[in-house]
Amino acid sequence: MAVLEILKYPDERLKRVSAPVSVFDDELRRFVAELEQTMAAGPAAVGIAAPQVGRVQRIVIVDVSGRPGTRSSGHMVLINPQILRREGEAIGREGCLSVPDCTGNVARAQRIELAAMNESGQRREYLCEGFEARAVQHEIDHLDGILFLHRLTGKRDLFRRKVYKS
Ligand code: ZN
Repeated sequence: MAVLEILKYPDERLKRVSAPVSVFDDELRRFVAELEQTMAAGPAAVGIAAPQVGRVQRIVIVDVSGRPGTRSSGHMVLINPQILRREGEAIGREGCLSVPDCTGNVARAQRIELAAMNESGQRREYLCEGFEARAVQHEIDHLDGILFLHRLTGKRDLFRRKVYKS
């Protein structure tokens, strides 16, 4: 098992549009496990998308369960995710493993209904709200080659991140 290298903005490969997964095999499950390890190694990461490690397939992981006071569906492996419904709008601060030096304010739907496959190819549906809904929308954007930097609410809504203590 390995922690994978994360592509950093402005790497052009982050702009690629990812392809759907059609084969749910052991190789895919191994990759998902490596993606999980890579996310766990990131500072306070709540999500990661396969294209961030150079694999242009529609695979994301979101887990906000470590954030106190946040409604969470637990650990979500979302393969070929589709947002079925969006409700409301909220502006909130986002960061990204591929944009380590900055955070920014982005408008997202407040509540989403979501369908995705898990790593065994079973279809699951989720209802996500608030910060979890934000994290899912952020990660799905990666599958379409979009970073939060492209969605900032205004020019003044980009902030330099405090340095993480190691
Ligand atoms: Zn990101």
